[in-house]
Amino acid sequence: MPKKHGKQHRGQSPGAKQVTGPAAASGAAASHGLAAGRPPSSALWAGAAPAIEERVPEPAAKPPVRVAPGIVTVTPGMPFRLAEVDPDADGGFDKAEAKDALDVERARIQALQERLYAERRRSLLIVLQAIDTGGKDGTVRAVLQGVNPQGCAVTSFKVPSTEELDHDFLWRYHARTPGRGMIGVFNRSHYEDVLVVRVKGLVPEEVWRARYNLINDFERLLTASGTTILKFFLHISKAEQKARLEARIEDPEKHWKFDPADLVERKSWDAYQAAFGDALTQCSTPYAPWHVVPANRKWFRNLVVARTVADTLEAMDPRYPEAAKGIADLKVPD
Ligand code: ADP
Repeated sequence: MPKKHGKQHRGQSPGAKQVTGPAAASGAAASHGLAAGRPPSSALWAGAAPAIEERVPEPAAKPPVRVAPGIVTVTPGMPFRLAEVDPDADGGFDKAEAKDALDVERARIQALQERLYAERRRSLLIVLQAIDTGGKDGTVRAVLQGVNPQGCAVTSFKVPSTEELDHDFLWRYHARTPGRGMIGVFNRSHYEDVLVVRVKGLVPEEVWRARYNLINDFERLLTASGTTILKFFLHISKAEQKARLEARIEDPEKHWKFDPADLVERKSWDAYQAAFGDALTQCSTPYAPWHVVPANRKWFRNLVVARTVADTLEAMDPRYPEAAKGIADLKVPD
């Protein structure tokens, strides 16, 4: 019943101003009749709009992340080299098996996302990083197909605008983190500020080096506020990138995907691998570890990412809000 829930409690009256901060929080609760602990007279669902303080979950002792076999999780505090992961790995699946298994995972994600949305207490943030042609767009398409678009938001981060550059580097990312009940996907992310920015020398070294700790603090804040973070690095080989770029040149239907700048970036392959390796080492934390996905085989990549998302949502165990007492006896007037 997330639809009713959304209608009753999410919507603002036309022209209503969005107000934030503690005053706004108590004001919002009061307008729902919840501030003084009174039950909302018109609420159909007892737990549909919990007071703000009730919506803030206890920080999880351990993040409820469940990683599919085949993915390599970077151990926090240990140096990590991408060369340790075989981008060709397929977990022993063949393509047809993996496609069938993906359908099962998608159905699980769809069902669990509805519960996450209805519960409206926690959120899931999926971060996707990869070298050009690494498959971020394809992964979003494959894994989130069929999910209620109202319950998820994908943000693709491009070269920052002047306004974004006028703020601290995390500003634009923080503004797009998923609210309670939502799944958010970052297609590129705050990691660009220690990747492309480092490789292209867009800021001095002391500036990007300081960002690893700032990123870890940012992710700790999100985690403590009820967001489970899944960070996937899609790992392809240099030969696979060549094949994918060639396919974009040869196939007229893929021309739109081809950007000549990708050929220039390819010359910095080693510098990017080093930057990825450092980001994964510095920012794999117990509360938001990095997961390296063998991604040369798209069908294997899709399956293991989808399975990890489904298993993690299941471990989060979102629950429908409790129904108000007596709801089953209500009669809808003619
Ligand atoms: P994509 O490659 O993700 O499909 P585009 O072709 O539009 O999308 O590329 C987006 C570009 O934005 C990439 O070249 C990427 O390096 C750049 N970019 C993203 N974030 C930043 C950032 N924080 N600073 C500089 N460049 C960035």
